[in-house]
Amino acid sequence: MTTELVLLGTAGAPLPVAGRGGISSALIVDERVFVIDCGRGSPSAFAAAGLDFSRLEAVFLTHLHADHVGDLPGMLLYPWGVREGANGPLAPIRVYGPSRPEPVPSGDAIFHRETTIHPERPAPGAADLVESILAGYAYHLNVMPLDAHMPDAGALVRGIDIRLPVRTEAVAQVPVVVFEDSVVRITAVAVTHGRAVPALAYRFDTADGSIVFSGDTTVNDDLIALAREADILVHQVADLGYLERHGTDSAELARMAALHTDVTEVGGVAERARARELILSHYLPADPEAITEADWAKRAGQGFGGKTTAGRDGLRRTLPRVTS
Ligand SMILES: [Zn+2]
Repeated sequence: MTTELVLLGTAGAPLPVAGRGGISSALIVDERVFVIDCGRGSPSAFAAAGLDFSRLEAVFLTHLHADHVGDLPGMLLYPWGVREGANGPLAPIRVYGPSRPEPVPSGDAIFHRETTIHPERPAPGAADLVESILAGYAYHLNVMPLDAHMPDAGALVRGIDIRLPVRTEAVAQVPVVVFEDSVVRITAVAVTHGRAVPALAYRFDTADGSIVFSGDTTVNDDLIALAREADILVHQVADLGYLERHGTDSAELARMAALHTDVTEVGGVAERARARELILSHYLPADPEAITEADWAKRAGQGFGGKTTAGRDGLRRTLPRVTS
């Protein structure tokens, strides 16, 4: 058995940039493929990494901002034709993610909605999102099988909301078990990403080791506890100083500080978690020309005794086998 990580895309924020794909990672556990977030270009990156769409078992969404879910429709629909085996359709791709927030977040005097889109369901959860993808692409799903052999569309996907217990501030979260079998155990906690509530971080444990995905978050004690002794912590990173020097105004900058972990903080997170390797991803700024990988790694690694790696699209890591 092996457990392998592949970074499919490492850009943060929705605006496409040249040279870096949107945030998405894959974990291959004993030939089963799990995808964490489906940012821009993730289906193409999945193919470019040599991964097999017939092995895609589940997708885990950290939160429902477009930079994390924008290419979920493609991840489900493009490989539909290969989702079939000798005995009929493969098991549906399971899409796990946050449930609907309760209540729907509101803004303030500076940042607020003017138009509420789809007011009858203004903040759909992961299962709602999957249902809406099926509804929006019903033409393709209902008509394409009339002209080409396709597996039964009813077996394509299942959306599953992750229900977190009601939070008590200042009380440490007990991670929720999202999925568990004899090979992999996947747990999640809520992290802090502004009004994106809930936003999640995930931990994958296998016999080979453990990998944690931070999602988008400020420095968060529950994430640090989730990442305790992890072999790899894949963590988002922002350089707010860079953004300030390049024209982000103070109101927006204050918002971003309440959304993301800065490059000056992320090493401390990895150190407190006692992770073995910190891999940077979800870069802000996302433009690979803005800041060199060496600079990201050097600054992010300050205060961290383990190894710091500046993630890049296509980066792979195989977890060490546990020898008994
Ligand atoms: Zn993001």
